[in-house]
Amino acid sequence: MRSTIESSLAGATLTDSAAPGINYQPEAMMPDVKVLKVGGQSIMDRGRAALFPIMDELVLAKDNHKLLVCCGGGTRARHIYSVASDLELPTGVLAALGGYVPRQNARMLQMLLARHGGIFMLHDDFEKLPLYFRLGCIPIMTGMPPFGYWEKPTETGRIPQHRTDAGVFLSAEVLGAKRALFIKDEEGLYTDDPKKNRGATHIAKIGARELLKSNLPDLVLERVVIEYLTRSRFCKELQIINGLVRGNVTRALNGEDVGTIIYQD
Ligand code: ADP
Ligand code: MG
Repeated sequence: MRSTIESSLAGATLTDSAAPGINYQPEAMMPDVKVLKVGGQSIMDRGRAALFPIMDELVLAKDNHKLLVCCGGGTRARHIYSVASDLELPTGVLAALGGYVPRQNARMLQMLLARHGGIFMLHDDFEKLPLYFRLGCIPIMTGMPPFGYWEKPTETGRIPQHRTDAGVFLSAEVLGAKRALFIKDEEGLYTDDPKKNRGATHIAKIGARELLKSNLPDLVLERVVIEYLTRSRFCKELQIINGLVRGNVTRALNGEDVGTIIYQD
């Protein structure tokens, strides 16, 4: 005998586009958290000259803002991607291996910030964030999303599409933060990679759809993040700033539109 449980989705496949409308109005869990990324290649790999001034700004800001600091991977992650690619390993393996590097960076950053309340956290510790903030901590975690071996197949190539920019964006989205902040080494988005094309010009503000349509040759953020921004519920703005310029982190945390803003249009 099969009994039916009274539930609005019982018996539904969940793939039916006309599935019984559950009125979906998600709650923003922690909308006041500032989710930010410290770039891997752009900041961490440059060592103390780049990182220490940013840490100083974060320490000064931590009593006024709830900071969730996420780390990028950088050159070591690129190296494992290229070695594993050469060995013909699949995308899921690349994602799993590449994931160790931003975690190493997060661990190093935690140790450097330990005396200011830096605390290393895993994805499963989201539930402890209210406690960490109440204690005056600076929670630090990897920017890499936890897909690992379950990384989605790519359209072309084999580099995982969801790397640390994606993880930071998705963290902001799940926490309900309106803006995600990316601390890198350029003033934000340009019409092309400013390190390769001297003629590239700065874009202060652009919509996600508009940006996807403009088909720029290269982007300052993982492309998938711009795609997701077109359908996010909470995280509606991405801010990319140059962390090598002193004061930018503080200005961004205070809500100033320094760098580039990419918004949901
Ligand atoms: P992260 O350290 O956060 O992983 P990346 O090194 O992956 O950052 O990405 C930032 C870099 O992207 C910049 O240093 C810049 O050289 C490059 N880049 C590529 N295309 C663009 C663009 N259109 N605008 C700005 N920067 C770009
Ligand atoms: Mg990157």
